[in-house]
Amino acid sequence: MILEVDNIHTYYGESHALQGISLNLEEGETVCLLGRNGAGKSTTLRSIIGLSAPRRGRVTFKGRDITGQPAYRNARAGIGLVPEDRRIFPGLSVRENLEIAEYSRPGVTRQWTIERIFDEYPMLGELAGQDGSTLSGGQQQMLAVARSLMSEPLLLLLDEPNEGLAPVIVKQIGALIDQLSRTTTILFTDQSVHFALKHAQRAYILEKGMIVHEASSQALINDIETQHRYLSVA
Ligand code: ATP
Repeated sequence: MILEVDNIHTYYGESHALQGISLNLEEGETVCLLGRNGAGKSTTLRSIIGLSAPRRGRVTFKGRDITGQPAYRNARAGIGLVPEDRRIFPGLSVRENLEIAEYSRPGVTRQWTIERIFDEYPMLGELAGQDGSTLSGGQQQMLAVARSLMSEPLLLLLDEPNEGLAPVIVKQIGALIDQLSRTTTILFTDQSVHFALKHAQRAYILEKGMIVHEASSQALINDIETQHRYLSVA
């Protein structure tokens, strides 16, 4: 098991956002966290990487208890987060946005270099000198994912990678997830079941800070009742 989340409770002030979330990922899996607005998807990712420390419960990454460990240390240990708002650094070029994120874990051979990123995603290469904040939403999402690769993540957390993107771009993000899932463990969030079904093997559904359902993507696609009860169905 690369990630085990055991009964975590996370608060914003007095607001009890996560009320006992448990989930786990085997190495190599791609799993989706589903749920409507405010269900707790982002908070779950933030709790795993250490941006919102759980008050109770435990997060274990590669067999080590990392609960409450600061995000920068978790990033160095191999957890990458692409936040919902992408956080492209304005005033830095596409290349600089990538350079600033470069980190080599001791003893790990680099898989992702800027050259490889420009090779695999030529669109980013063409935009290398452009200020990252002037990119379109889809281009920024590609850059945000590429930037996370610069620290060689073993576990990639993607928070609503499709939010606000046109259907044609959503397809590209899906292809990117499919490609990365061959070598990386991925946990991503989404609001509707369709994208999850195409790109994840399993899904957890959250509501009001709790996991209310867990199923293989295949089982979920046939479970219209669960979809209607807990998800935004297009
Ligand atoms: P969305 O799709 O809207 O991001 P989500 O499923 O990711 O939804 P979270 O953002 O994790 O949900 O929010 C879970 C709960 O925590 C919600 O009730 C939300 O209002 C609350 N919350 C989130 N961020 C904060 C914050 N910074 N301060 C206070 N409450 C917050």
